[in-house]
Amino acid sequence: MPPARFAPVYLDANATEPLRPDARGAIAAALDVTGNPSSVHGAGRAARRIMEDSRESLAVRFGVRPADLVFTSGGTEADALAIHALGGGRRVIIGATEHDAVRAAAPGATVLPVDRSGTADLDTLTSLLAEGPPALVCLMLANNETGVIQPVADAARICHRYGSWLHVDAVQAAGRIATDLSLFGADSMAISSHKLGGPAGAGALMLASAVSSIAPLIAGGGQERGRRGGTPPVAVIAGFAAAAEASGDAAALAPLRDRAERAAVACGAIVCGGDAPRLANTTSLALPGVRAETQVIALDLAGVAVSAGAACSSGKVAVSHVLQAMALGSLAGEAIRVSLPWNATAADVEAFAAAYSRMALRLARENPDAGRRTLVD
Ligand code: PLP
Repeated sequence: MPPARFAPVYLDANATEPLRPDARGAIAAALDVTGNPSSVHGAGRAARRIMEDSRESLAVRFGVRPADLVFTSGGTEADALAIHALGGGRRVIIGATEHDAVRAAAPGATVLPVDRSGTADLDTLTSLLAEGPPALVCLMLANNETGVIQPVADAARICHRYGSWLHVDAVQAAGRIATDLSLFGADSMAISSHKLGGPAGAGALMLASAVSSIAPLIAGGGQERGRRGGTPPVAVIAGFAAAAEASGDAAALAPLRDRAERAAVACGAIVCGGDAPRLANTTSLALPGVRAETQVIALDLAGVAVSAGAACSSGKVAVSHVLQAMALGSLAGEAIRVSLPWNATAADVEAFAAAYSRMALRLARENPDAGRRTLVD
């Protein structure tokens, strides 16, 4: 069998970040500790120590008490647990650009619109909350496709004025911008290990102390103070905490992101959400007239890994509900996401720029419409 071919330039960090060396070290050390953290003997206590040290470090980093942090299998489960626990018996309102982890956990939720830049409309949130009984509102801190950052602290204030709760999906923000539950004044917050340079397989739901006694989604053996059953993956959790400690601020990636954008815009691309505050590592680039899938494949063949705005787990490419909510019309099926990992280099971005220009030139020859349209409704 021929060896598998891997794209040498990886610009799909929002799908999963490369493992940080500190995380690798912590995982390796923890794998050598045999013991179930629920066991009372010395081996169990050793495993428990690793887990509780990890919990404490993550709690300090993200602004909660250690007792208010519940380990989960990842971001999807943390979102689902928040909505299950805090949304029960309440109406649920979700931002129009939320991740499917939130959308699928809140069927029938009222959708809060965003403007053309992708920012949630807080006047509409105020009217929705003033109209009815207390709600659970879900608003992401940073969007996975565009990187657009939502005003979650303002949203939390509005929610509390009407006796409502705010859940923040901070999966893409954690490790890239300041992410602190107590500073935001939110009631719960989800994060995920593999999105900040840790291993896949762990995440956390952080809770404000007032709501931290929640009903589990998975009851099992009563782990996590009865809030999430199941033997925890101690080594994965150790890697999660080490990655979070090593992660800082993605702001240093802004010049590289801007360089990638300039190269694409010179070929006719439109930056979706470019007017809003955004994560420094993320850009959503629509090339009018060219399907996102075609672009992803062309760039992959050129050795550059990016993703279509919305790739679902089946690998199929759907039209992006995020860009549709931003009223970007047919551009919603024509945008790729370029997301720089923590270890991105200028050479990576130059490789992207060259591959993108070659792709756009070739597609323009094949399809004279490519790159020609401007913003559409
Ligand atoms: N929330 C957002 C904003 C995401 O981007 C993702 C994953 O892409 C998730 C939640 C789900 O996280 P996980 O992959 O850890 O389940």
